[in-house]
Amino acid sequence: MDGYSGALKRLLEENNVRAGDVIKVITEEREYVGTVIPRYEYASQDFLTLKLLNGYNIGIRFDKILSIKLIEKHSPPSFKSTLLEFKSKNLPHAVIVSTGGTIASRVDYRTGGVRPALSASDLLSVVPELADIAKVDAEVLFSIYSENMTPSHWTVLARKVHDYVSKGYEGVVVTHGTDTMGYTAAALSFALKHTPIPIVLVGSQRSSDRPSSDASSNLISAMHTSIEAPFSGVYVLMHGWVSDERMEVHLGTKVRKLHTSRRDAFKSVNSKPAAIYENGRLHVILDDLPKRRPPSSFDIFPNFDERVALIKFYPNMDPEIFSYLHGKGCRGIVLEGFGLGHVSSRAIPVLKKIVRDGVFVFMTSQCIFGRVRLTVYDTGRDLLEAGVIPLEDMLPETAFVKLSWCLGNFGEDKVLDVMKANIAYEYSSRTILEEGECFGK
Ligand code: ASP
Repeated sequence: MDGYSGALKRLLEENNVRAGDVIKVITEEREYVGTVIPRYEYASQDFLTLKLLNGYNIGIRFDKILSIKLIEKHSPPSFKSTLLEFKSKNLPHAVIVSTGGTIASRVDYRTGGVRPALSASDLLSVVPELADIAKVDAEVLFSIYSENMTPSHWTVLARKVHDYVSKGYEGVVVTHGTDTMGYTAAALSFALKHTPIPIVLVGSQRSSDRPSSDASSNLISAMHTSIEAPFSGVYVLMHGWVSDERMEVHLGTKVRKLHTSRRDAFKSVNSKPAAIYENGRLHVILDDLPKRRPPSSFDIFPNFDERVALIKFYPNMDPEIFSYLHGKGCRGIVLEGFGLGHVSSRAIPVLKKIVRDGVFVFMTSQCIFGRVRLTVYDTGRDLLEAGVIPLEDMLPETAFVKLSWCLGNFGEDKVLDVMKANIAYEYSSRTILEEGECFGK
């Protein structure tokens, strides 16, 4: 029952208690009132977990419990859609395409768990401010956590965004889990060519019904940006600071989640943010962004080849991993090397062999900031000689997505040229991150 077993399960059953119900627990020392939370499969079975009224969870040892009393049965919360109201005003037409993640989830306060339960129209009803910005349509394309995104999802999403923009929508916001939002943003950046409007991906670190949620402020700012920004392309919008006033709009190819939990987890890497959305106003930071434009040249290259790997090199890594990948049919590898782009000397002959056999091998750096340079040390020069191609200051995950996209849409004879071309701001002409300007500052 809800992950409980043995004597604890019997005690709950005898008192007609299930996860989600509010109960009072009397122990030898004191009394607790809270909501019963289900146990995880591998959690110790000796504890009853309660979410207390102050929001904290506690585990109460079964052998300390004298009695329990049911106070309130769980009844699921419901959301009332106000969609019709949104459509009555004379405003631009926009769409929210929902893919899942925390922004499309809500905490079940009864159980303390986060569930992917919000539909796109639920999102509209919990963020009524959207009604003042646009006539908003909503579509739930996927309902998944972003750790489950695959290149096939990128393809479906790219086609969907292409459809909406081609139909004349003036704003497109994609809600997405934060874990792999950077990968999807890169995928859309490459797949959509000459996008007429800004496509804005947005997520949240806290689900929309937590008091500290960043969901509605992010969503509202993303909608404003997609409809009002003077530039086009694919962007990620998230908090730029812990407060709700300042949002950063990042290039889809230059953004990484750099913190597990902070609301301002996303930062532009080797680039400044494209724009800041602060106190309701958009300030454009990068001056060479493509302008909003008519849809006449809008095009789509939506395919991604899955036979690509992203490998972080580590001390004493067995280079046979590369032969193994080649044997499994891998067509391209993006390496995250040390420092300027190095791997151990013993890996180089193996890389040379797989390059000769037709595998594309590219080098990025696990340093995060700065550029790969393979001309400084012997190791780098040996890698160049082995046929490994340096990718300047491109983020490893962007390089991985780009390689998958190149192999999915172009012949092998084009791959090197396309990988070296600056398609969607994935290379910065110089590393434009200023000294001292780094995460957390
Ligand atoms: N694991 C979740 C996801 O990426 C986290 C989030 O949504 O922020 O879907």
